[in-house]
Amino acid sequence: SLILGIESSCDETACAVLDGAGRIRAEFVASQIADHAPFGGVVPEIAARAHLALLPDMIHRALAATGTTPSGLVAIAATAGPGLIGGLIVGANTARGMALAADVPFIAINHLEAHALTARLPDTGGNPPNFPYLLLLVSGGHTALIAVEGVGRYRRLGTTLDDAAGEAFDKVAKLLGLPYPGGPALERLAAEGQGGRFDLPRPMLGRPGCDFSFSGLKTAVAQLVARQPEGGLPRDFAADLAFAFQSAVVAALADRLRHALAMLPGATAVVVAGGVAANKAVRAALADIAAGAGLPLAAPPLRLCTDNAVMVAWAAIERLRAGDAADPLGVRCRPRWPLEHVRNMQIAG
Ligand code: ATP
Ligand code: MG
Ligand code: FE
Repeated sequence: SLILGIESSCDETACAVLDGAGRIRAEFVASQIADHAPFGGVVPEIAARAHLALLPDMIHRALAATGTTPSGLVAIAATAGPGLIGGLIVGANTARGMALAADVPFIAINHLEAHALTARLPDTGGNPPNFPYLLLLVSGGHTALIAVEGVGRYRRLGTTLDDAAGEAFDKVAKLLGLPYPGGPALERLAAEGQGGRFDLPRPMLGRPGCDFSFSGLKTAVAQLVARQPEGGLPRDFAADLAFAFQSAVVAALADRLRHALAMLPGATAVVVAGGVAANKAVRAALADIAAGAGLPLAAPPLRLCTDNAVMVAWAAIERLRAGDAADPLGVRCRPRWPLEHVRNMQIAG
């Protein structure tokens, strides 16, 4: 019983085939970084065209690798939101077309739900967490703390009031003259830096609740950079500033996570998802806090933390196991689709 997943909500084109037990039978990801790098960020129209160019052959290869055809699948799942609408339509319509032609159920997946459930995938090496668990989603587009109480049962405890953490990494990296995508480059630069030189604000630290804010931190970095003479930042200045920025983000994430744990006393694990979870300083701080609370930290392997289609197929398996019916082919793609609303799909009129 094989299931196909398709992901195309941003700048990763991906498809994967999982079996009914959730074992990964084929997975492909094509990053479009090179297409977007000249523009310093993701260009939605370029992304949609790239998905369209890449998906058919990628799906063909995934099915061939598992020795199946579309009609041999038990379901075809695609991300239907949130994300860039052009890419969502390409991926979802590809899935719909295949589902219609092969008479196979179509499942429209919320991208955030897919990130939220990834840690439960049996193939990830760690112990899959049971419900309820506390999810810290730290990606390029989202930063939120979510109580995952069951499949389809998500309660948002806190979210960013302005920029996402990954977005802040990317913007600060740009200010420091690093290439897109900035997060990994900034982490490498920070490794050369030292603390004690810059005193950046610690956004939201100690405030009640567990909301985030990163735009003030970014502005503080921008002001320090603007005060430097023209003509490129000295390497040690940029490295120390990268270190200070990363430390401030880590402190903010740690503080908010502590508050969220107090708000969810029954949590059985802390789970992190999203590209920023690739950051070693972030991971170390989160592991410390989880250990302090006596909870395991479940962090999926890096390739499953960033955008991928394994998580899309897995979310579909979780939903089918939970008794959900397949979605009508007329389900609309949604650029905005909060996790709390996954049970309220809108049908196209
Ligand atoms: P969303 O899932 O919210 O739609 P997205 O898909 O763009 O957003 P991901 O692909 O999960 O987000 O993650 C990409 C983000 O993670 C980028 O902002 C990137 O800079 C950041 N990132 C990746 N690696 C690191 C790292 N080592 N340190 C810090 N940030 C990182
Ligand atoms: Mg991405
Ligand atoms: Fe994502």
